[in-house]
Amino acid sequence: MSVWAVLVAAGRGERLGEDRPKAFVRLGDLPLLAEPLRRLDECEWVDHLVVVTPPEWEEPAILLAEEIGASKTGACVTGGATRTESVRLGVAEVPDDAAVILVHDAARPLLPPGVVERLLEALGAGFDGAVPALPLADTVKRVRDGVVAETLDRDGLVTVQTPQAFVAPVLRAALASNSLLQATDCAALVEAAGGRVTTVEGDERLLKVTTRADLERVASWL
Ligand code: C5P
Repeated sequence: MSVWAVLVAAGRGERLGEDRPKAFVRLGDLPLLAEPLRRLDECEWVDHLVVVTPPEWEEPAILLAEEIGASKTGACVTGGATRTESVRLGVAEVPDDAAVILVHDAARPLLPPGVVERLLEALGAGFDGAVPALPLADTVKRVRDGVVAETLDRDGLVTVQTPQAFVAPVLRAALASNSLLQATDCAALVEAAGGRVTTVEGDERLLKVTTRADLERVASWL
């Protein structure tokens, strides 16, 4: 059973206010991308990797993979205008005989040990997809035009992270059938196509870097 990881790093990361894409801002001594790339490469469950980069950043990504010895990197491809499009372009590089595809945001650099194993266990139990989830600590309200319209029952609500794992043909079919859906995660595409997705225990360290404060927080956990 071969497991392929698609690492999406093609976002611009404008909220960081840097002169380069988010995946290439400094984290410690190297570009941010080095951290998730190294962690996926070192993960015993992952056989091969595809990196999806912004236009004109394919070469730096290949050089970075070589520099850190991420030898499972099979391809670096250019991403698209949306995350879903970038995932689609990455998945297109995964061979047909792959059993499982993991999709991970480069913007979540600190992949802790254990998460991938939990995801694969869930697929082994028969689910089409599995996502790491965290319970909500805060109360959640829906607000319209500055007025609270609804307070949601927190029971059963979670926030989800990446990596997300899918039975490869299920993810491919979902990507093919939902071409217009602007999903913020792949699981939403699989759910919309009728797939059964479960949650596994997530991890605070999978924090997504959006702002400079997030970057500093992640750097402090290195
Ligand atoms: O923009 P956001 O931080 O939500 O993006 C999540 C992940 O998706 C990031 O790792 C980013 O690089 C990636 N992405 C992408 N292609 C896009 C937009 C986002 O690969 N067009």
